Parts: sequence; C-alpha cells; structure tokens
Amino acid sequence: MITRDAGTCVEFTATCIDGADVACGDHFTALDDGAAMDKWICEHAQKTGHRTFRRTLVDVAVVTPPSGAVIAGEVERQPHALDAGPATPGAPR
Ligand SMILES: [Zn+2]
Repeated sequence: MITRDAGTCVEFTATCIDGADVACGDHFTALDDGAAMDKWICEHAQKTGHRTFRRTLVDVAVVTPPSGAVIAGEVERQPHALDAGPATPGAPR
C-alpha cells in the first residue's frame, strides 16, 4: 500500500505557460493549500488574460508492504501481528 507521509507538506505549484510568443513563466507555490494555488491562477488569468497553466503536486510517498512480503531480503512483519501475544492452543492464527 502507498500512502502520503502525514509528517510532510504537500507542495502545489502553478506555472503560467500561456503567452503570445514566449510562455509567461509566472508561477506560484503553496504548501498544503491547493485552493490558494487555484485562487492565484484565477487572479493571474483575470489580470493578464492568460488561460493555460501547468499544475504540479509534490508529496512524499510511503510504502507499507503487506505482512509476509519479502523486502530487500527481509520478511515484512506488521507490528500488530507481534502484539497479538501468545497463541491460544487450538485457535486459528
Ligand atoms: Zn501568465
């Protein structure tokens, strides 16, 4: 499973790629605020008439392999499996 690292910020960037002969290149970056990026795009479009933007979202991904998967030669064990305590005789595990 791949999840976003909750301890890091998500970086939203918009770059204006519109312009008559050369791309405008004006850009805006916000951390954890995609709405601020969209607001900047709308304001830039209203001010300049430019309508085309490249948007990027950068985050940090964390891989959590399933229990029992072999990662770099080691068998992955999930913490909750280790906290289960001793097995009850006859109980399925
Ligand atoms: Zn522009």
